[in-house]
Amino acid sequence: MTERRDQLAANLAKVEERITAACVAAGRKREEVTLIVVTKTYPASDVRVLSELGVRHVAENKDQDAAPKADECSDLPLTWHFVGQLQTNKARSVVRYADLVQSVDRPKLVTTLSNEAVRAGREVGCLIQVALDAEEGGRGDRGGVGPGGIEELADLVAGSPGLRLDGLMTVAPLTGPYAGREQAAFERLMVLSTALRRAHPAANMVSAGMSADLEQAVAAGATHVRVGTAVLGVRPRLG
Ligand SMILES: *Cc1c(COP(=O)(O)O)cnc(C)c1O
Repeated sequence: MTERRDQLAANLAKVEERITAACVAAGRKREEVTLIVVTKTYPASDVRVLSELGVRHVAENKDQDAAPKADECSDLPLTWHFVGQLQTNKARSVVRYADLVQSVDRPKLVTTLSNEAVRAGREVGCLIQVALDAEEGGRGDRGGVGPGGIEELADLVAGSPGLRLDGLMTVAPLTGPYAGREQAAFERLMVLSTALRRAHPAANMVSAGMSADLEQAVAAGATHVRVGTAVLGVRPRLG
């Protein structure tokens, strides 16, 4: 366990250095960027160690793994983000522990999350997941709505009890015009964020960047980076 602790501490320090260097290069303050550690496929014991090491935001992408883990860690001062494609039949479980859902991408999911959040007496922050590999109003391979669908979803979230509109999220696309152009993709997300904030000034979160491309996300102006592998190691299985 102390070996694992040392490993996580060392990895975390390296990621911290990368974020700081990226902030310096971009002329941004370190406090402008929040690190979210993606703990998917890793055990609750790792989450506990990360919390002891000062991590305050964690993310998960599968409800069946996340729900028991969040239960085991309910004594820790953590903010839980849900970042995976979300089926409406999982919404009831997810709103019990998720402080934010970053993968909001269709009206049916918004109405279900709203109903379940109200029922659970919770307020859930929502990010619209933007698919930059989709047609304007279409949907992405890995979830997300095309840029043309943001406004409708944003207005729906903003008007839904139990939900709070917090901003936008994206995953750098593997196909389409932004394939291999992470920074350009993240810059496009920033433009979309600026447009969103004209109607919804408080929705100022921009979640972009993972282990491989957090520098490009910070350079583009992301407020949140989601880092898994670089902190926890290569995942033992797909997730
Ligand atoms: C797994 C995952 C991450 C983290 O990816 P790494 O490459 O391990 O840093 C970030 N965002 C989402 C949506 C993920 O599913």
